[in-house]
Amino acid sequence: MAAEASAAGRLFLITGPSGVGKGTLVSALLQRHPQIWLSVSATTRSPRSGEQEGQHYFFLDRAAFEAKVAQSGLLEWAEFAGNCYGTPREPVEQYLAAGRPVLLEIELEGARQVRQSFPSGFQIFIKPPSFAELERRIRGRGTDSEEAISRRLERARVELAAEAEFDAVLVNDDLDRALAQLEQLMGLA
Ligand code: ADP
Ligand code: 5GP
Repeated sequence: MAAEASAAGRLFLITGPSGVGKGTLVSALLQRHPQIWLSVSATTRSPRSGEQEGQHYFFLDRAAFEAKVAQSGLLEWAEFAGNCYGTPREPVEQYLAAGRPVLLEIELEGARQVRQSFPSGFQIFIKPPSFAELERRIRGRGTDSEEAISRRLERARVELAAEAEFDAVLVNDDLDRALAQLEQLMGLA
């Protein structure tokens, strides 16, 4: 419990290529540590089946997304595989001020922006055991069109080349092992 106190009021960020298992790891982490507040992003992507407005994302059209950018309502934003994604600023600031550990799960360009605005944040890069396994996971998830899969795999090569920028790198091979390592990195173990 003493270790958990060290996560209070800190900003944590998880990134890594699409399909590596970020969402799976984060939802297991939140189940075990409900004190963590996970930021809900805005996106122009269409909802996947089962995704709920306000729970997985705030689904916006381009004009609404651009209005948020113009009002400085996003802490960071980036274009990924043809859609815009961004982190609403206000709730992040509020939860940090309230002393909660705050977690962002975002892509590389956004992580770079957050590194500038929150240099004291802790950024973790999740990588797959191999590129072939990454492709197998994206396809196995069964949520993306062939075109979306190609764009995501193409982008994955760029993201994987950036691992050295991060405070920590974690290989998501065995899920339980990766989760335990993530808890340790975040001072939650
Ligand atoms: P991301 O959020 O990074 O895009 P997901 O969490 O959606 O990735 O995971 C992509 C797919 O990989 C899902 O089908 C998920 O069940 C599977 N997966 C996640 N972690 C592992 C793991 N450690 N071993 C095998 N499959 C995994
Ligand atoms: P997906 O479409 O698979 O949900 O997400 C695609 C990518 O966008 C993932 O790498 C995810 O981490 C990233 N992403 C989700 N929300 C945000 C956000 O608010 N900002 C940025 N920059 N990337 C995000």
